[in-house]
Amino acid sequence: MQEQIDGVFRFRSTCNSCRREFYVIEGTQAYDRVKRNFKGMHCCEDCKNRIELEARLLLGRRLLTGRD
Ligand SMILES: [Zn+2]
Repeated sequence: MQEQIDGVFRFRSTCNSCRREFYVIEGTQAYDRVKRNFKGMHCCEDCKNRIELEARLLLGRRLLTGRD
């Protein structure tokens, strides 16, 4: 659902990970992503950062041990 507040468009979406509602602001990558695929699955900033961090840790561990 698109809303306009103080002349700025934003979408309200639900995080696929923590199920919280979050907003994406016009002009951000997250906004473009939600706009292109509104019915798709989206994550809030917190979860996105957490998922990226976990992926990086996993990759780092794989590089250190040389196995999965
Ligand atoms: Zn989340």
